[in-house]
Amino acid sequence: MSLKERDKKHLWHPLTQHQLHPESVAIIKAEACTLHDEDGNTYIDAIASWYTCMYGHCNSYITSRVYKQMTTLDQVVFSSLTHEPAIKLSETLIDILPNNQEKIFFSDNGSTSVEVGIKMALQYHFNHNEKRNVLIAFEDGFHGDTFGAMSVSGLSVYNGPFEDFFIEVKRIPTPNGTNHNDILEQLKSISKDNTIAAFVYEPLVQGAAAMKMHNTEGLDSILEFCKSQNIITVADEVMTGFGKTGKHFASLHLNNQPDIICLSKALTVGLLPMAITSCSQNIYDAFLSKDITKGFFHGHTYSANPLACTAALAGIELLTSNEIQNNISRITSSHKAFGERIKAHSKVESVRQLGIIFALDLNIKMERYGNLRDQLFKFFMDNGLFLRPLGNTIYILAPYVITDSELEKIYSTIEAALDTF
Ligand SMILES: *Cc1c(COP(=O)(O)O)cnc(C)c1O
Repeated sequence: MSLKERDKKHLWHPLTQHQLHPESVAIIKAEACTLHDEDGNTYIDAIASWYTCMYGHCNSYITSRVYKQMTTLDQVVFSSLTHEPAIKLSETLIDILPNNQEKIFFSDNGSTSVEVGIKMALQYHFNHNEKRNVLIAFEDGFHGDTFGAMSVSGLSVYNGPFEDFFIEVKRIPTPNGTNHNDILEQLKSISKDNTIAAFVYEPLVQGAAAMKMHNTEGLDSILEFCKSQNIITVADEVMTGFGKTGKHFASLHLNNQPDIICLSKALTVGLLPMAITSCSQNIYDAFLSKDITKGFFHGHTYSANPLACTAALAGIELLTSNEIQNNISRITSSHKAFGERIKAHSKVESVRQLGIIFALDLNIKMERYGNLRDQLFKFFMDNGLFLRPLGNTIYILAPYVITDSELEKIYSTIEAALDTF
């Protein structure tokens, strides 16, 4: 029996309606930007396996570092014990994070990094004897699948059955360059009774909302307002972190830095799951007390796993290398040229780009998970390209090690798709 057949027996895949999509493609090997399936087909991983494998799959520099760590210290409890991989990672990360970030808290995945950020913000006010229990978030944000993260996510396709159980959230529109004042008016009215604990947002690019991009000044003015009201700002950089926007973090494009930053995905370069929530000294200090219950009682068994910390360290070394920085510039220019070439196509509504994140909207309307989207997905797979269109958006977020000829293959396959549908 093929892997594809055996898969169907016991496996339940994430974000999948199995009655409509009973089959998965079985991948047996991955190297650099290429995925190999069990039938001998290859695919360019044009979305870096959900923005994780930015230095290429099975990168030997990273795997050898982790292998070495594996033979020295595998796992140890991170309460009352500590270890060098976590210490070194904290030092390295603080060096590249926005200046106001001082403390690093570990968890396992993007959703838990947001969950931790929300709990830190809520307890910050609680520890200051202030009752603030409402959050602000963007209308179509995505922050993960645990309850706190779901509460702030505005993409209701995922949320339907659970909405009655959510934390209270007020939603604001994303800044588009013309709605500054409306958003600020709305914020003033929402926050006038001092019940807002935090604003949770994806800075500048909202991944799951099909790479929706923000006006930078607009986002800055929202953050400035939040700071003036002591509303804790929580930047979810799970998708945007580690170079994708052209800077190490999307927040570095802005003047106002967040109090709390959530990181995962490319943090551990696709090798192992881990997440980090970083915060400013001011947040951390609110938890210091002789009273034990003012501490932050949140912890996951695999917190700061030494192997995952080592993968993250190797990843940051690569990110800050000239080679990868040059690659980021190269991909950015290449996408820009493609944008110029494709924007006049009769099926293209608009194109947008920030750093190596490129998206184009089709002027053919599609359901988010509808038939045409599935046909497009199949067209790309049949042509050796792993791309997952979202609604009527096709986006590219390829590993930094993608070659020019692989990029050209992505572009020409997208053009062929536009001519076919
Ligand atoms: C993927 C993602 C998450 C959730 O991360 P998981 O590791 O899938 O739980 C949260 N926020 C953003 C912006 C993401 O892209």
